[in-house]
Amino acid sequence: MSSDNLSIELTAPNGHKYTQPTGLFINNEFVTSRSGEKITSINPTDESEITSVHAAGAEDVDIAVAAARKAFKTWRDIVPTERGELMLKLADLVDKHRTTLATIETWDNGKPYTVSSTEDVPEVASCLRYYAGYADKLHGTVIDTGPAKLAYTLREPLGVCGQIIPWNYPLAMAAWKLGPALACGNCVVLKAAEQTPLSILYFGTLIKEAGFPPGVVNLLNGYGKVAGNAIAGHEGIDKIAFTGSTATGRQIMKAAAVNLKNITLETGGKSPLLVFEDADLEQAAKWAHIGIMSNQGQICTATSRVLVQEGCYDRFVDMFKKTIGETSKVGDPFQEETFQGPQVTKAQFERVLGYIESGKSEGATLAMGGTAYKDVGGKGFFVEPTMFTGVKDSMKIYREEVFGPFVVVSSFKTEEEAVAKANDTTYGLGSAVFTQDITKAHRVARNIEAGMVWINSSNDSDFRIPFGGVKQSGIGRELGEAGLAAYTNTKSVHVNMGTRL
Ligand code: NAD
Repeated sequence: MSSDNLSIELTAPNGHKYTQPTGLFINNEFVTSRSGEKITSINPTDESEITSVHAAGAEDVDIAVAAARKAFKTWRDIVPTERGELMLKLADLVDKHRTTLATIETWDNGKPYTVSSTEDVPEVASCLRYYAGYADKLHGTVIDTGPAKLAYTLREPLGVCGQIIPWNYPLAMAAWKLGPALACGNCVVLKAAEQTPLSILYFGTLIKEAGFPPGVVNLLNGYGKVAGNAIAGHEGIDKIAFTGSTATGRQIMKAAAVNLKNITLETGGKSPLLVFEDADLEQAAKWAHIGIMSNQGQICTATSRVLVQEGCYDRFVDMFKKTIGETSKVGDPFQEETFQGPQVTKAQFERVLGYIESGKSEGATLAMGGTAYKDVGGKGFFVEPTMFTGVKDSMKIYREEVFGPFVVVSSFKTEEEAVAKANDTTYGLGSAVFTQDITKAHRVARNIEAGMVWINSSNDSDFRIPFGGVKQSGIGRELGEAGLAAYTNTKSVHVNMGTRL
């Protein structure tokens, strides 16, 4: 540990050496927390401690909010093109530091390095670049009401945005929220998830290096019930953007009611994937595998409920099992051949094992997996890719979000039944449809209650395309042009052109 106690030299399991900041990032500096609380980060692969970082309490949140409020006074008025240029610089720095960022992500979260280095970190840079381009293209409109009046609108930043991030894509989820917030001229107080506190602090060093003015971006670690709750209920924060569980989303809405914050929520899902008899079954099996087993199954849009038409049910299940068996290689996430690393924490590991027991006790058929995977040095939070078939609609494993490499398969007879089953959930995030009949594909897409539909693919996320849910899967949209709407207010200006009283 360095003498100031705010950074530590670390060597990751892949041999990569770097300096890990450990403080709270406020006003472009790493500082100690007033609360004195710490968070210890655990390597989910071998259960060892990586390091400890400072955890914010309510007083630290106050300090970060004050910094952001002060910065907002000038940040909102800088030439928008300059805001975009800073974001482009940040994106370039993310590319430059890709190895370090991806190493931290894999070490702390357990996701395969092949994924963090070729998907997650590049997505951070792409998302920042995409929104950087919008910084000087946020135009208002002139509204013609006749010669007596000039009426126009301005798109103004909201002010200070509180952003609460989950652990499944620590950097990518931060970028999805920072990109539109900064492009629109807002300042940010962002809290990372306590399970994955490390990469965001390294990212903080890049914010400073890119040249953002102090206070524009403040990055905190802290526990949800303490720092998260303080952000959600803070009267100096104008907007809250959250990704995580539906239960926490509900808590955040309550806390945010204190000053009627603008809210966007990306919450949970139990997304259906429909396979019709006329589908290319081999492709359906491959996409169904990607749709649930990627990222250790820890994806809010995971197509975790696979619904298969009776005429192709057995053939599909065989192909799906074969694909999972051949592709889902469980192992050390730093090994190149690994497809599936450990679950992020012991709590998530135990949660998945709990659902396996529930599936067995409710009488579903365990078609593959179903136990902890012990072949990675006998330690770590690894779970075998697990499939239950013959699952009934009433079962807990059919209705609740598991958030692991855990899929349930059920059958349907008709298109009408398929849509009814797909919609029989409190969630409405993703959905996938496999058929070669284009008319049916579009008809089903229209009838499914979900924010996103993939036709003949699954979990095809793209920073240019809006992302979000309906029902209890969320409020508002992230990504794409739609993602900007959540970060500006429209001000209407009426100019009297000569009407005299
Ligand atoms: P969570 O929703 O509790 O945590 C997500 C974020 O919210 C974290 O930063 C956390 O610190 C913060 N938070 C927690 N309580 C808070 C509060 N009262 N006020 C403000 N912020 C708060 O998720 P979890 O407990 O880590 O995971 C539980 C389940 O949530 C998972 O099994 C999964 O089903 C779901 N989940 C979904 C996503 C997603 O992408 N939609 C991501 C993570 C977890």
